[in-house]
This record gives sequence, structure tokens and C-alpha cells, in this order.
Amino acid sequence: MDSLLSLKEAIVIYLDRSGGLRKLIEDCNVFKGAQQMGAVYRFSFDVSPSDMLELDAPLGDCILHDPLKAVSLFQSVCYLSIKTLSLIDHIETESQVNVVLKPTHLPPFPDYCLDLSEFPRGYGPMRPFALEGLVIAMTRVTKYTQGARFLCSEETCPCSRGFHHIRVHAPGATESATVRSDFTCFLCSSPLKEDVKSRVLGDKQLVELMHVKAVNILGVHDAASLRYQSVTLFLRDELCNSMRIGHLYRVVGIPAHVHQWPNVTWSVEACSIQPWTPKCSCLVSNNFQNLQAASACSPWRFAAIVANSFGSSVVPPGLYNTLKLGLLLSLVQTEDNPDSPNHLDVLALTSDSLIIDRYSFIKCTYPF
Ligand SMILES: [Zn+2]
Repeated sequence: MDSLLSLKEAIVIYLDRSGGLRKLIEDCNVFKGAQQMGAVYRFSFDVSPSDMLELDAPLGDCILHDPLKAVSLFQSVCYLSIKTLSLIDHIETESQVNVVLKPTHLPPFPDYCLDLSEFPRGYGPMRPFALEGLVIAMTRVTKYTQGARFLCSEETCPCSRGFHHIRVHAPGATESATVRSDFTCFLCSSPLKEDVKSRVLGDKQLVELMHVKAVNILGVHDAASLRYQSVTLFLRDELCNSMRIGHLYRVVGIPAHVHQWPNVTWSVEACSIQPWTPKCSCLVSNNFQNLQAASACSPWRFAAIVANSFGSSVVPPGLYNTLKLGLLLSLVQTEDNPDSPNHLDVLALTSDSLIIDRYSFIKCTYPF
């Protein structure tokens, strides 16, 4: 009990020093201004584990190794702060506070890094890891249930009113873990029914992240046994649309098993995302520069030579030259300004869509 109290005290000091308390007050002002009374209030905090370790080692250890316990402690501290400072008038229970903690970076030790090319994965404890990789696919932004309120169906039970049964999303949980029809009351075991009006929705996007070494596999001609498996990354709310296909990122996330009968998949719930530049040099090679100098006598010769051999690991030089040239021109145009809507559209018609798929993969991952 003492240790829980001292952890909560450390959280108060941390929030005060890191500006988290000010953010809590600002977020509460937004909820206060809202016309409708909410059932669940979401607060997200960017947290620095190294600052926490410096402030209070047990708290730093908790955020690194037991994130669910850390969330529950922050939830308690936030609820007490809201009540003490009267930040939201109509909040009734602690479970109405939905806290999301986002570690911004982790200690630079192997135990906190996850190599996407290594197997087996996902047998360790559920805690944050740092991983680096290449985005190869992503979905559109869709909705998910951030939080839901349930009421007891037995009218005499105290849980048939108020905010006793609040369910919020946790890392690795599916939609049915938050909203389902077979939950029962913890007081009287009667079935619970959802108060649909109080459901809070958030944004969700799925991203496929691959080890950057997978790109080199296109250059390997022998039937190597090496295979790379992409990882599904869940981006939620503020993190949606923060990644782009073909770009490299460093992610801090919590790996989790997602149970969707009959399958169990291993995926990562992202906490923070930063663009990443690998240490290897991306300079244009001397051979390539010499080639350009040697073919400078004609405005077309260099482009023709490059197009001829572009993607030679997918299709031998000499084939699909017009398509290759089109893709290269498109690459040059988009690379100058990735956000420009004026990129060159390339239309390719073929009976063999596999080749086009492979070309588009090269195009995404090899910006010249
Ligand atoms: Zn009940």
C-alpha cells in the first residue's frame, strides 16, 4: 500500500514537472466546454521513461515493465486531481478516466529493442519495445470504440445507474473486448446492457511494418531460405496518418496477441512514431556518377540506360522499358516534394499483375 502511495506521489511530481498537470487542466477545460456530458474522458500523456527513472526508479520501472499498472496509477492520480481541483463537475467514478501513456523513447539497450527480422516474437511480457522498419502498406482510417458505458439490467441494483461499468480500449484488445453483449454485473451478476448514447469512438489505422533489410531481398537471385514477415501496427487517434508508405520510422509500441477466433495474431500497438534515417550511407555511388558524366552528351542517354536496367531483379534489362521510365520519372517528381499532388500518374496494363506489384514495391522503397 505504501509503495502504491509513493508511486502516486512520484506521478504527481512528474506530472507537475513535465507539464502533464497543465495539459490535464487544459484537456478538462475542453470537456467542460462540451455541451454534452460525457461518460468517458480520455487523457493522453507523452512520458519520458528516462526522466521518470531519474525522478523515481520504481515509477520508471513500472512504466517500462508493467504499463497496465502504470496506466491504472495515472488514472487514479488524474481522477483525484480532477476532483480536488474541480476540473470536471459531473465526473463520478475513477473508471470514467481513460488514461493513455505514450513513452516517447526507451533506454538504448538490447532488451528494449525488437528486431523485426528475428523470430520467435511475442512470447515475452507485454511491455513497450522500440522497433524500426519500413512502411509497406496501410489501411484507411476507421473507427473503434475508445470507451463504453454499461448499466445493470436489474433495476434495484446500484449499478443500474451511474458510471460503475465503464470499459475502455487496452493495447491488444479487440472491439469485442470493449463492447459485447454478455458482460455481467460485478455486484449482482445480472446481464449488463450498453448505454449506446455514451459510446465514445476514436480513429484507428493499421500499418504493415517490415524490416528494412527486406528491400535487399529483391536483389538476391538464389532461392534463399530467408523470409521477412511484416508486422501489423495499430495507430490510434492522434497517431493516425502519421506514417507514409515507403518511409522509414522508429516506433515505440506495445506488442500484444490479438485474439480473433479462430486466429491469434501478433501485432503492435504504437505509442510514439518518429521518422528514422538508417546509419548506412545513401549517397549516389561513384559508378553511377561516372555513368551520368559519360552519358551527358545526350539528354536521353542516361535516362534510357537507367530505365533499361531499373528493377533488373524483377524483370531483366530490356523489357518493360517504357513502364520503367514512367516509374522513374514519377519517382523523381514525387521525391522533390512528397506532398505535392502533381506527381506523375503511371497507368500500366498487363496480364501479369505480379510484375507491376513488384515494381511498385521497388518504387516505394527506393527513392532515387
Ligand atoms: Zn447489478
